Amino acid sequence: MRLLLISDLHANLEAFEAVMEAAPDYDMVANLGDVVGYNASPNEVCARSVALGGLFVRGNHDRACSGLTNTADFNPVAAISARWTQMRLTPEHLEWLRRLPKGPIRDNSLPDVEFVHGAPEDEDEYLLNVFGAEENFRMPGQADIIFFGHTHLQGGFLDERGKVHQFTPAYESVHGAVEFELRLQRGTRYLINPGSVGQPRDGDWRAAYALYESYNGDSGRVHFYRVPYDIDQAQERILSSSLPPRLAMRLRLGR
Ligand code: ZN
Repeated sequence: MRLLLISDLHANLEAFEAVMEAAPDYDMVANLGDVVGYNASPNEVCARSVALGGLFVRGNHDRACSGLTNTADFNPVAAISARWTQMRLTPEHLEWLRRLPKGPIRDNSLPDVEFVHGAPEDEDEYLLNVFGAEENFRMPGQADIIFFGHTHLQGGFLDERGKVHQFTPAYESVHGAVEFELRLQRGTRYLINPGSVGQPRDGDWRAAYALYESYNGDSGRVHFYRVPYDIDQAQERILSSSLPPRLAMRLRLGR
């Protein structure tokens, strides 16, 4: 099974299109949430996500932008963008976002794999360091591989018999489309973030995504990718809307 992993699309149509164009062959898609918020193409990105199908987990911005939760814990810019998004979403897309399932999600075709937006116990938790990862690895009943999003940081954590490490893909170039392969080991457990399609925050502006090749015997792999996209167009859409201009600036910085 080849599973395409996308997360935190955040209404960035240009980044989403570049990812889908560059993506290798896959059998199924998993979308780890935050389809909307921040960027300027919420309806287009919802429509493409619906058409793509697959497995979904809801994100905190999906809840806030569809009115399921308020924006009390959002910073001012995120709150403005959530209100902007809610006012523009079609009734169909608002309803679709409200119905996205809360993680953790499992799929029969992928035993020992779990999908969450933030973390297994708390959909809004940011898994940012080994301490948070360790706590999650220690919880009973967890899958061997957990795919998560929310931090907008590509990479993740592995638990080698109680020793927890953080890792980030080591790409050979900061230009063009790049790939990094992680070989999975039986007995090691993983928390893996494909990165953010629409608003990366690891200093690399290129859209991030990943592909999981499920275990065949003892060999499994995760391929991480970065792909450039039409960032000028994505920024132009933000600047010509009433969204805060700094949302356009941060795209270029990858922050
Ligand atoms: Zn997000």
